[in-house]
Amino acid sequence: MGPVASINLAALRHNQTIIRQLAPRSKIMAVIKADAYGHGFLPVARALQDIDMLAVARVSEGCQLRDAGIDKPILVLEGFSEADEIRQAIEHQLEVVIHQAYQLDLLQSCKPDSELVMWLKVDTGMHRLGISADRAVDTYKKLQSLECCKLPPGLMTHFANADDIHHPSTKQQIQLFDQVAKNFPTYQSMANSAAILAWPETHRDWIRPGIMLYGASPLLGLKASTHQLEPVMTLKSRLMAVNALKEGDCIGYGSTWCCPEDMPVGVIAMGYGDGYPRHAPTGTPVLVNGQRCPLVGRVSMDMITVDLRGVDTEVGDEVILWGDGLPAEEIAESAGTISYELFCGVTSRVRYEYR
Ligand SMILES: *Cc1c(COP(=O)(O)O)cnc(C)c1O
Repeated sequence: MGPVASINLAALRHNQTIIRQLAPRSKIMAVIKADAYGHGFLPVARALQDIDMLAVARVSEGCQLRDAGIDKPILVLEGFSEADEIRQAIEHQLEVVIHQAYQLDLLQSCKPDSELVMWLKVDTGMHRLGISADRAVDTYKKLQSLECCKLPPGLMTHFANADDIHHPSTKQQIQLFDQVAKNFPTYQSMANSAAILAWPETHRDWIRPGIMLYGASPLLGLKASTHQLEPVMTLKSRLMAVNALKEGDCIGYGSTWCCPEDMPVGVIAMGYGDGYPRHAPTGTPVLVNGQRCPLVGRVSMDMITVDLRGVDTEVGDEVILWGDGLPAEEIAESAGTISYELFCGVTSRVRYEYR
Protein backbone atom coordinates (compact mmCIF):
# COMPACT_ATOMS: atom_id res chain seq x y z
CA MET A 1 0.00 0.00 0.00
CA GLY A 2 1.48 3.32 -1.09
CA PRO A 3 1.03 6.77 0.38
CA VAL A 4 -2.45 7.97 1.32
CA ALA A 5 -3.79 11.43 2.10
CA SER A 6 -6.59 10.74 4.52
CA ILE A 7 -9.01 13.68 4.56
CA ASN A 8 -11.14 14.04 7.67
CA LEU A 9 -14.26 15.92 6.60
CA ALA A 10 -15.62 15.92 10.17
CA ALA A 11 -12.51 17.89 11.20
CA LEU A 12 -13.23 20.33 8.37
CA ARG A 13 -16.75 20.90 9.69
CA HIS A 14 -15.41 21.18 13.24
CA ASN A 15 -13.02 23.91 12.07
CA GLN A 16 -15.90 25.67 10.35
CA THR A 17 -17.77 25.68 13.68
CA ILE A 18 -14.74 27.14 15.49
CA ILE A 19 -14.55 29.87 12.85
CA ARG A 20 -18.24 30.70 13.31
CA GLN A 21 -17.67 31.01 17.05
CA LEU A 22 -14.67 33.31 16.53
CA ALA A 23 -16.59 35.66 14.22
CA PRO A 24 -20.26 35.18 15.07
CA ARG A 25 -21.46 38.30 13.27
CA SER A 26 -19.62 37.68 10.01
CA LYS A 27 -20.52 35.57 7.03
CA ILE A 28 -17.96 33.02 5.92
CA MET A 29 -16.40 32.83 2.49
CA ALA A 30 -14.46 29.52 2.55
CA VAL A 31 -11.31 29.79 0.46
CA ILE A 32 -10.95 26.58 -1.56
CA LYS A 33 -8.52 27.73 -4.26
CA ALA A 34 -5.71 25.42 -5.42
CA ASP A 35 -7.85 22.29 -5.06
CA ALA A 36 -8.84 23.34 -1.53
CA TYR A 37 -5.18 23.69 -0.55
CA GLY A 38 -4.52 20.21 -1.89
CA HIS A 39 -7.45 18.61 -0.02
CA GLY A 40 -9.66 18.08 -3.09
CA PHE A 41 -12.06 20.93 -3.82
CA LEU A 42 -15.20 18.98 -4.72
CA PRO A 43 -15.34 16.83 -1.56
CA VAL A 44 -14.42 19.92 0.48
CA ALA A 45 -17.05 22.11 -1.24
CA ARG A 46 -19.68 19.40 -0.71
CA ALA A 47 -18.74 18.96 2.95
CA LEU A 48 -19.15 22.68 3.64
CA GLN A 49 -22.95 22.40 3.49
CA ASP A 50 -23.85 25.51 5.43
CA ILE A 51 -21.06 27.83 4.37
CA ASP A 52 -22.24 31.21 3.04
CA MET A 53 -19.92 31.41 0.06
CA LEU A 54 -16.90 29.80 -1.59
CA ALA A 55 -13.82 31.59 -2.94
CA VAL A 56 -11.31 30.46 -5.57
CA ALA A 57 -8.42 32.26 -7.24
CA ARG A 58 -9.20 31.75 -10.93
CA VAL A 59 -12.22 31.81 -13.20
CA SER A 60 -11.34 28.30 -14.39
CA GLU A 61 -11.58 26.99 -10.82
CA GLY A 62 -15.02 28.56 -10.40
CA CYS A 63 -16.20 27.01 -13.68
CA GLN A 64 -15.03 23.56 -12.54
CA LEU A 65 -17.02 23.90 -9.33
CA ARG A 66 -20.17 24.98 -11.18
CA ASP A 67 -19.79 22.23 -13.77
CA ALA A 68 -19.64 19.74 -10.90
CA GLY A 69 -22.98 21.06 -9.63
CA ILE A 70 -21.86 23.27 -6.74
CA ASP A 71 -24.57 25.93 -6.41
CA LYS A 72 -23.24 28.16 -3.60
CA PRO A 73 -22.18 31.73 -4.41
CA ILE A 74 -18.56 31.67 -5.63
CA LEU A 75 -16.15 34.61 -5.63
CA VAL A 76 -13.14 34.63 -7.97
CA LEU A 77 -10.42 36.39 -5.96
CA GLU A 78 -8.18 37.22 -8.92
CA GLY A 79 -11.17 38.25 -11.04
CA PHE A 80 -10.96 38.12 -14.83
CA SER A 81 -8.12 39.32 -17.00
CA GLU A 82 -9.59 38.88 -20.49
CA ALA A 83 -12.96 39.23 -22.21
CA ASP A 84 -13.47 35.50 -22.48
CA GLU A 85 -13.23 35.14 -18.71
CA ILE A 86 -15.98 37.76 -18.30
CA ARG A 87 -18.26 35.61 -20.46
CA GLN A 88 -17.32 32.48 -18.53
CA ALA A 89 -17.91 34.21 -15.21
CA ILE A 90 -21.38 35.31 -16.30
CA GLU A 91 -22.26 31.95 -17.76
CA HIS A 92 -21.18 30.18 -14.56
CA GLN A 93 -22.62 32.85 -12.23
CA LEU A 94 -19.32 33.65 -10.58
CA GLU A 95 -18.75 36.83 -8.61
CA VAL A 96 -15.53 38.63 -9.49
CA VAL A 97 -12.98 40.89 -7.84
CA ILE A 98 -12.06 44.12 -9.63
CA HIS A 99 -8.51 45.07 -8.72
CA GLN A 100 -7.03 46.82 -11.77
CA ALA A 101 -8.26 49.68 -13.97
CA TYR A 102 -7.84 47.60 -17.13
CA GLN A 103 -10.66 45.32 -15.96
CA LEU A 104 -13.06 48.28 -16.27
CA ASP A 105 -11.87 48.87 -19.84
CA LEU A 106 -12.51 45.21 -20.61
CA LEU A 107 -16.02 45.46 -19.18
CA GLN A 108 -16.71 48.63 -21.17
CA SER A 109 -15.53 47.12 -24.42
CA CYS A 110 -17.23 43.75 -24.13
CA LYS A 111 -20.52 45.15 -22.76
CA PRO A 112 -21.91 42.00 -21.17
CA ASP A 113 -25.69 41.88 -21.36
CA SER A 114 -26.11 40.01 -18.08
CA GLU A 115 -25.26 41.23 -14.64
CA LEU A 116 -22.08 40.40 -12.82
CA VAL A 117 -21.63 40.71 -9.06
CA MET A 118 -18.42 42.61 -8.39
CA TRP A 119 -16.20 43.19 -5.39
CA LEU A 120 -13.76 46.06 -5.41
CA LYS A 121 -10.34 45.31 -3.99
CA VAL A 122 -8.37 48.17 -2.49
CA ASP A 123 -4.62 47.98 -2.05
CA THR A 124 -3.94 49.08 1.53
CA GLY A 125 -0.33 47.94 1.73
CA MET A 126 0.06 44.43 0.30
CA HIS A 127 1.04 46.01 -3.05
CA ARG A 128 0.08 43.02 -5.10
CA LEU A 129 -3.48 43.35 -6.40
CA GLY A 130 -5.88 46.20 -5.68
CA ILE A 131 -6.88 49.71 -6.69
CA SER A 132 -4.91 52.33 -4.77
CA ALA A 133 -6.78 54.00 -1.94
CA ASP A 134 -6.88 57.40 -3.68
CA ARG A 135 -8.49 55.93 -6.82
CA ALA A 136 -11.00 53.72 -5.05
CA VAL A 137 -13.92 56.17 -5.00
CA ASP A 138 -13.44 57.06 -8.64
CA THR A 139 -13.28 53.39 -9.61
CA TYR A 140 -16.36 52.60 -7.55
CA LYS A 141 -18.32 55.31 -9.36
CA LYS A 142 -17.22 54.02 -12.73
CA LEU A 143 -18.30 50.54 -11.71
CA GLN A 144 -21.68 51.84 -10.61
CA SER A 145 -22.20 53.45 -13.99
CA LEU A 146 -21.72 50.14 -15.80
CA GLU A 147 -24.95 48.49 -16.80
CA CYS A 148 -23.63 45.01 -16.06
CA CYS A 149 -22.57 45.86 -12.52
CA LYS A 150 -24.84 44.37 -9.94
CA LEU A 151 -24.87 46.65 -6.91
CA PRO A 152 -23.68 47.07 -4.32
CA PRO A 153 -20.21 45.74 -4.94
CA GLY A 154 -18.41 44.56 -1.84
CA LEU A 155 -15.22 46.25 -0.73
CA MET A 156 -12.23 44.16 0.21
CA THR A 157 -8.54 44.27 0.99
CA HIS A 158 -5.85 41.74 1.93
CA PHE A 159 -3.22 41.83 4.70
CA ALA A 160 0.50 41.44 4.19
CA ASN A 161 1.52 40.63 7.78
CA ALA A 162 -1.53 39.50 9.73
CA ASP A 163 0.32 36.30 10.69
CA ASP A 164 2.75 38.34 12.80
CA ILE A 165 0.68 39.63 15.70
CA HIS A 166 3.23 42.34 16.53
CA HIS A 167 3.66 43.72 13.02
CA PRO A 168 2.64 47.41 12.79
CA SER A 169 1.48 47.27 9.17
CA THR A 170 -1.81 45.50 9.93
CA LYS A 171 -3.08 48.46 12.00
CA GLN A 172 -2.04 50.81 9.19
CA GLN A 173 -3.84 48.70 6.62
CA ILE A 174 -7.00 48.68 8.76
CA GLN A 175 -6.87 52.48 9.14
CA LEU A 176 -6.45 53.06 5.43
CA PHE A 177 -9.24 50.62 4.63
CA ASP A 178 -11.57 52.41 7.05
CA GLN A 179 -10.78 55.77 5.47
CA VAL A 180 -11.73 54.40 2.07
CA ALA A 181 -14.69 52.38 3.33
CA LYS A 182 -16.50 55.31 4.86
CA ASN A 183 -17.33 56.41 1.31
CA PHE A 184 -18.94 53.09 0.43
CA PRO A 185 -22.31 51.88 1.63
CA THR A 186 -21.41 48.27 1.05
CA TYR A 187 -20.18 44.97 2.46
CA GLN A 188 -16.65 44.83 3.80
CA SER A 189 -14.18 41.94 3.80
CA MET A 190 -10.61 41.95 5.05
CA ALA A 191 -9.77 38.97 7.21
CA ASN A 192 -7.84 35.90 6.13
CA SER A 193 -7.23 33.15 8.72
CA ALA A 194 -4.47 35.04 10.53
CA ALA A 195 -6.63 38.15 10.90
CA ILE A 196 -9.64 36.08 12.01
CA LEU A 197 -7.52 34.72 14.85
CA ALA A 198 -5.39 37.70 15.79
CA TRP A 199 -7.26 40.83 14.68
CA PRO A 200 -10.97 40.64 15.68
CA GLU A 201 -11.61 44.24 14.54
CA THR A 202 -11.11 43.02 10.96
CA HIS A 203 -13.99 40.54 10.94
CA ARG A 204 -16.56 42.91 9.36
CA ASP A 205 -19.30 41.48 7.08
CA TRP A 206 -17.36 38.67 5.40
CA ILE A 207 -14.36 36.71 6.60
CA ARG A 208 -12.18 34.69 4.21
CA PRO A 209 -10.64 31.72 6.03
CA GLY A 210 -8.37 29.39 4.10
CA ILE A 211 -5.64 27.57 6.00
CA MET A 212 -7.51 27.44 9.32
CA LEU A 213 -10.36 25.52 7.70
CA TYR A 214 -7.83 22.81 6.95
CA GLY A 215 -6.66 22.79 10.54
CA ALA A 216 -3.29 24.52 10.44
CA SER A 217 -2.32 27.72 12.23
CA PRO A 218 -1.30 30.72 10.13
CA LEU A 219 0.24 32.48 13.13
CA LEU A 220 4.00 32.42 13.42
CA GLY A 221 5.22 29.86 15.91
CA LEU A 222 1.73 28.64 16.92
CA LYS A 223 0.06 25.28 16.34
CA ALA A 224 -3.55 24.75 15.28
CA SER A 225 -4.32 22.98 18.56
CA THR A 226 -3.83 26.34 20.35
CA HIS A 227 -6.96 27.50 18.50
CA GLN A 228 -8.84 24.16 18.93
CA LEU A 229 -8.51 23.50 15.20
CA GLU A 230 -8.15 19.90 14.01
CA PRO A 231 -5.95 18.75 11.12
CA VAL A 232 -8.00 17.74 8.09
CA MET A 233 -5.25 16.03 6.09
CA THR A 234 -3.20 13.17 7.50
CA LEU A 235 -0.48 12.06 5.13
CA LYS A 236 0.33 8.40 5.72
CA SER A 237 2.41 5.59 4.39
CA ARG A 238 4.03 2.33 5.54
CA LEU A 239 7.38 1.08 6.66
CA MET A 240 8.78 -0.89 3.69
CA ALA A 241 12.01 -2.14 5.21
CA VAL A 242 13.86 -2.19 8.51
CA ASN A 243 17.61 -2.52 7.98
CA ALA A 244 20.00 -3.53 10.73
CA LEU A 245 22.95 -1.28 9.84
CA LYS A 246 26.43 -1.17 11.29
CA GLU A 247 28.32 1.70 12.86
CA GLY A 248 29.71 3.87 10.03
CA ASP A 249 27.16 2.76 7.39
CA CYS A 250 25.98 5.82 5.46
CA ILE A 251 22.47 6.18 4.11
CA GLY A 252 21.00 7.27 0.79
CA TYR A 253 22.09 9.77 -1.88
CA GLY A 254 25.18 11.72 -1.02
CA SER A 255 25.76 9.46 2.00
CA THR A 256 25.01 12.52 4.11
CA TRP A 257 24.20 10.64 7.32
CA CYS A 258 26.17 7.78 8.80
CA CYS A 259 25.18 5.49 11.66
CA PRO A 260 26.96 6.43 14.93
CA GLU A 261 26.47 2.85 16.17
CA ASP A 262 24.89 -0.43 15.08
CA MET A 263 21.22 0.46 14.69
CA PRO A 264 17.92 -0.16 12.87
CA VAL A 265 17.03 2.24 10.05
CA GLY A 266 13.54 2.24 8.52
CA VAL A 267 12.66 2.92 4.88
CA ILE A 268 9.28 4.58 4.25
CA ALA A 269 7.37 4.73 0.97
CA MET A 270 7.19 8.52 0.75
CA GLY A 271 9.37 10.97 -1.11
CA TYR A 272 9.39 14.29 -2.89
CA GLY A 273 7.58 12.56 -5.77
CA ASP A 274 4.63 12.37 -3.39
CA GLY A 275 5.00 15.94 -2.15
CA TYR A 276 7.15 15.34 0.93
CA PRO A 277 9.53 18.34 1.08
CA ARG A 278 12.97 17.43 -0.27
CA HIS A 279 14.58 19.98 1.98
CA ALA A 280 13.33 18.35 5.18
CA PRO A 281 16.61 17.91 7.07
CA THR A 282 17.85 15.08 9.30
CA GLY A 283 15.88 15.32 12.53
CA THR A 284 12.50 16.15 10.98
CA PRO A 285 10.00 14.04 12.94
CA VAL A 286 7.92 11.18 11.53
CA LEU A 287 5.40 9.08 13.49
CA VAL A 288 6.10 5.36 13.13
CA ASN A 289 3.42 3.30 14.78
CA GLY A 290 2.57 6.38 16.85
CA GLN A 291 6.18 6.93 18.00
CA ARG A 292 8.25 9.94 16.97
CA CYS A 293 11.37 9.11 14.96
CA PRO A 294 13.82 11.47 13.28
CA LEU A 295 14.36 11.41 9.55
CA VAL A 296 18.00 10.67 8.63
CA GLY A 297 19.79 11.34 5.34
CA ARG A 298 18.33 12.86 2.20
CA VAL A 299 14.73 12.70 1.06
CA SER A 300 14.58 10.75 -2.24
CA MET A 301 11.85 10.77 -4.86
CA ASP A 302 10.08 7.68 -3.54
CA MET A 303 11.56 7.06 -0.09
CA ILE A 304 12.73 8.52 3.16
CA THR A 305 14.80 6.85 5.86
CA VAL A 306 14.33 7.12 9.62
CA ASP A 307 16.26 6.34 12.77
CA LEU A 308 14.38 3.52 14.54
CA ARG A 309 16.53 3.29 17.64
CA GLY A 310 14.37 2.60 20.68
CA VAL A 311 11.21 2.21 18.59
CA ASP A 312 9.02 -0.87 18.67
CA THR A 313 8.06 -1.51 15.07
CA GLU A 314 8.08 -3.89 12.10
CA VAL A 315 7.74 -3.82 8.32
CA GLY A 316 4.21 -2.85 7.30
CA ASP A 317 3.60 -0.51 10.24
CA GLU A 318 1.75 2.72 9.61
CA VAL A 319 3.73 5.94 9.34
CA ILE A 320 2.28 9.45 9.65
CA LEU A 321 4.20 12.22 7.89
CA TRP A 322 1.89 15.01 9.09
CA GLY A 323 -1.65 15.36 10.37
CA ASP A 324 -3.08 13.46 13.37
CA GLY A 325 -0.52 13.65 16.17
CA LEU A 326 2.07 15.50 14.11
CA PRO A 327 1.20 19.09 13.10
CA ALA A 328 2.01 20.03 9.51
CA GLU A 329 3.27 23.35 10.91
CA GLU A 330 6.09 21.47 12.66
CA ILE A 331 7.18 19.67 9.49
CA ALA A 332 6.90 22.91 7.49
CA GLU A 333 9.07 24.77 9.96
CA SER A 334 11.67 22.02 9.91
CA ALA A 335 11.75 22.04 6.10
CA GLY A 336 11.88 25.86 5.86
CA THR A 337 8.42 26.26 4.36
CA ILE A 338 4.77 26.76 5.41
CA SER A 339 1.95 24.27 5.85
CA TYR A 340 0.16 25.83 2.84
CA GLU A 341 2.95 24.66 0.55
CA LEU A 342 3.07 21.16 2.05
CA PHE A 343 -0.68 20.70 1.49
CA CYS A 344 -0.66 22.11 -2.05
CA GLY A 345 2.36 20.02 -2.94
CA VAL A 346 0.83 16.56 -2.39
CA THR A 347 1.04 14.96 -5.83
CA SER A 348 -1.45 12.95 -7.87
CA ARG A 349 0.48 9.76 -7.09
CA VAL A 350 -0.92 9.89 -3.56
CA ARG A 351 -4.29 8.19 -3.09
CA TYR A 352 -6.97 10.31 -1.41
CA GLU A 353 -9.32 8.78 1.13
CA TYR A 354 -12.28 10.75 2.54
CA ARG A 355 -13.70 9.91 5.93
C1 LIG B 1 -5.80 32.79 -0.16
C2 LIG B 1 -6.55 33.98 0.28
C3 LIG B 1 -7.22 34.00 1.53
C4 LIG B 1 -7.08 32.88 2.54
O1 LIG B 1 -5.87 33.02 3.23
P1 LIG B 1 -5.49 32.06 4.47
O2 LIG B 1 -4.22 32.62 4.97
O3 LIG B 1 -5.33 30.69 3.90
O4 LIG B 1 -6.62 32.14 5.42
C5 LIG B 1 -8.00 35.09 1.82
N1 LIG B 1 -8.11 36.14 0.96
C6 LIG B 1 -7.46 36.17 -0.21
C7 LIG B 1 -7.60 37.36 -1.11
C8 LIG B 1 -6.66 35.10 -0.60
O5 LIG B 1 -6.00 35.15 -1.77
